Amino acid sequence: SAVIVAIDGPSGTGKSSTSKAVAAKLGLRYLDTGAQYRAITWWMITNGVDTDDPQAVALAAGKPAIVSGTDPHAPTITVDGVDAAAPIRTREVTAKVSAVSAVPEVRTLITALQRSIAAEETGGIVVEGRDIGTTVLPDADLKVFLTASAEARAARRSGELRGQEAAGLAATREALIKRDAADSGRKTSPLAKAADAVEVDTTELTLDQVIECIVTLVEE
Ligand code: C5P
Repeated sequence: SAVIVAIDGPSGTGKSSTSKAVAAKLGLRYLDTGAQYRAITWWMITNGVDTDDPQAVALAAGKPAIVSGTDPHAPTITVDGVDAAAPIRTREVTAKVSAVSAVPEVRTLITALQRSIAAEETGGIVVEGRDIGTTVLPDADLKVFLTASAEARAARRSGELRGQEAAGLAATREALIKRDAADSGRKTSPLAKAADAVEVDTTELTLDQVIECIVTLVEE
């Protein structure tokens, strides 16, 4: 039967690389839910919606058509048929995504989209995010919650950003902490570990070790 794996945790824990690799190894599909929140945020920005106005965001939330391609070897995301893979990674989107994803209408729509994708992928899927194990797919077969020290997370994030944007380690660390606080401090989307999730602290582990650990958990 279809295996559903939920992988949650803050950014900088290697969540995306880990989730993609686990899906590829196990022959499962893959869904990056952060990319969907980024996509709706990018649409709001390009369509002149004030992302600091929750009512305006709520009113526009249903307008963009967000489509996620779930091949772990080549995941895609489009908004109204336009490839959004690059524009959703800009600093502007990253700065505004917490506010947009806090709007209940946005979460209701994106959550429904995530559930329908998981239901369609009858061969099984790895879904990564912040609230997958607690809210989106509470019946997942395996729930993993990834953590890492603030230092390790900031170092990984600036590694990812190198060449793209010149971000110092201290600035990256600060931005991460700010976004985490925004993500976990609100009522509508707590970054939360499900009671039945397995916590994996990645601070002292290599990416391959984290992948192996999760693959083993799925196979158990
Ligand atoms: O994972 P990523 O850093 O791309 O996620 C971008 C943002 O999307 C997060 O900072 C958070 O505000 C939001 N998000 C969310 N719920 C999820 C996934 C992401 O609210 N399941």
